[in-house]
Amino acid sequence: QKITIAIDGFSSTGKSTLAKQLAKALGYIYVDTGAMYRAITLFAMRNKFVGVEKENINALIKLLPKAKLKFVFNEQLGFAEMYLNGENVEKEIRSIEVSNQVSRVATIEEVRHKLVDMQKEMGKEKGIVMDGRDIGTVVFPDAELKIFMTASPETRAYRRYKELLDKGDKVTYKEVLKNIQNRDYVDSHREFSPLRRAEDAIEFDNSDMGMEEQFDRIYNHSLR
Ligand code: C5P
Repeated sequence: QKITIAIDGFSSTGKSTLAKQLAKALGYIYVDTGAMYRAITLFAMRNKFVGVEKENINALIKLLPKAKLKFVFNEQLGFAEMYLNGENVEKEIRSIEVSNQVSRVATIEEVRHKLVDMQKEMGKEKGIVMDGRDIGTVVFPDAELKIFMTASPETRAYRRYKELLDKGDKVTYKEVLKNIQNRDYVDSHREFSPLRRAEDAIEFDNSDMGMEEQFDRIYNHSLR
């Protein structure tokens, strides 16, 4: 019988790698909710609405209905890519520029409402693995399996830094560490649905755990 799997945790804890592996092994759909917040951030940046000033936030809220998000499955890659108003924005939303703005955009209540509604809709069908910051607490409080992932900021920054370098991004380790620390802070201190572990979530600290071991342990949980 298919279930709903909610994966939450701090930035760059390997949530999406794990979620993709689980979805593949179980034949489930994988939804990366971070991509949705990133796409709205890109939309805001393109419309020059980034900043904490009230006018910017209000302007963005007004324009939100014009931001149409869609996941399109890429057969070759084996996962879905994010489209904003018909354009594949998968690469752009992963840039350090978007990463530096996304947590602030994610504090806006109206943005969260729009995206949480979409996520709940996608979850109407069982057999879904969704990762984010509020999946076990807000989007699917009744999920059969909830995972909360943590790792030290240094471990996460190093992993992320290597990933970005491999992609040809010119970033420094310090810059990545700072971005991760900032996002941790903003994500866990925002007023509206802050990042926290759901009471019934299983916590995994993978600072010293290999990806394979982690996958095996969580996969076993999903079969119970
Ligand atoms: O998962 P990812 O690191 O791509 O998410 C980018 C940002 O989007 C997070 O740092 C967080 O601010 C926001 N986010 C969120 N709620 C989610 C998913 C992401 O607030 N469910």
